[in-house]
Amino acid sequence: MNFNKCSRCGCFFMSDSSVCPNCQTKDMYEMGQLKDFLEENTSKINIDSLSASTGISVKNLNRFLSQEQFSEFSGQIQKDDGNIGIQL
Ligand SMILES: [Zn+2]
Repeated sequence: MNFNKCSRCGCFFMSDSSVCPNCQTKDMYEMGQLKDFLEENTSKINIDSLSASTGISVKNLNRFLSQEQFSEFSGQIQKDDGNIGIQL
């Protein structure tokens, strides 16, 4: 076990995950919302519109979408021109 810095709130915690236990609940909830949304809306959408539609921040969306469980939806995400990449 190591000290990790939470990807959401920035606090330090002891765990192997990327978010602290407090934020893990929020992460699970938002990932569920995101999955539901992408399953119901099969048309292409960019990150900004996705953020506006789901209420999930762009930063968190990028983090979720970089995960294995969302790889099946990657084709649905419209990348903006320019250097928008996965922000870690
Ligand atoms: Zn946190």
